[in-house]
Amino acid sequence: MRKFKTESKKLLDLMINSIYTNREIFLRELISNASDAVDKLYFKNLTDKSIELSKDELAIQVSFDKDARTVTVSDSGIGMTKDELDRNLGTIAHSDSMAFKMENDEVQGDDVDIIGQFGVGFYSSFMVGKSVRVVSKAYGSDEAWAWESDGVEGYTIEPAERAEHGTDVIITLKDNTDEDSYDGYLSEYGLKDLVKRYSNYVRYPIRMEVTKSRELPKPEDAGDDYVPQFENYQELDTVNSMIPIWKRRKSEVDQEEYNEFYKTDFHDFADPARTISVHAEGALSYDALLFVPSRAPFDLYSRDYQKGLALYSSNVLIMEKCEELLPDYYNFVHGVVDSQDLQLN
Ligand code: ADP
Ligand code: MG
Repeated sequence: MRKFKTESKKLLDLMINSIYTNREIFLRELISNASDAVDKLYFKNLTDKSIELSKDELAIQVSFDKDARTVTVSDSGIGMTKDELDRNLGTIAHSDSMAFKMENDEVQGDDVDIIGQFGVGFYSSFMVGKSVRVVSKAYGSDEAWAWESDGVEGYTIEPAERAEHGTDVIITLKDNTDEDSYDGYLSEYGLKDLVKRYSNYVRYPIRMEVTKSRELPKPEDAGDDYVPQFENYQELDTVNSMIPIWKRRKSEVDQEEYNEFYKTDFHDFADPARTISVHAEGALSYDALLFVPSRAPFDLYSRDYQKGLALYSSNVLIMEKCEELLPDYYNFVHGVVDSQDLQLN
């Protein structure tokens, strides 16, 4: 068994033992990682002509198994090598923000706030899981590896099988207790609801096996008293809307939706103080969605703080932080600018 690094252990401890009630965000975190992984493969595809990707290949799937008490998030993204599994999942990923907080000894604060502020990431799966297994095959590699852990001391990495490139994160849910039930994550309705609430604007289809009902064909010899018969069947459905929130008119969007988008994408715990939506058409057309945080970003005065807006061209992320879009005196503003008039490079 490999041991977790000290920082990782601290965060895992917090995660597993805290009284943080908003555990359901684990799904958002895993979907966001899946979406990042698909993005990475997509970008690679833009620059490397030897890769052939069909659009249909770029997807995320959420599923569950009631008997095994597992929830699985799968993606057809770039995947991880054995080394990357070790490095990315064995060490805390938010090392910048976490290290900053630890250096400044702020971590002793309130658990709830800490978890909220960090945007928690992969380790949030241990808020609901008693063990987590990650099976991954890196793009271009012919071997798959499985990372597995109960989130306490360490983890194992062993050879595994996976047909194609991509990653499956398989969470074995904790047992229900008198206070907490995890059964909501083992239902179609429960998971679908979470996907819609937290991950509706993810750019790739998030698919789920859903139960539908259809009418059976009427038998030829059916009499006048025939009553239509129905059967249930399962079908893979895309659950998220995929239409970016910044493309929609302000009048069509609830403030609640803006708030969720803001908190998810910009890793804030609190709702924004202001939401500004702009749609411009002319020589240069663009959609912009800007947020004024309700408090200063915790690392605003650190050397590593980077101002800037996310820049998209037709829903495709070009730059995470485009500095030129913000004057210094608005360095605390978060947001997105999307223009189809920009070249991808
Ligand atoms: P973050 O997403 O902020 O980097 P996470 O804790 O969510 O932090 O994830 C840690 C790292 O693990 C990611 O940066 C990525 O390198 C890797 N990772 C997690 N999930 C996946 C996945 N589904 N496919 C490929 N890499 C992943
Ligand atoms: Mg993440």
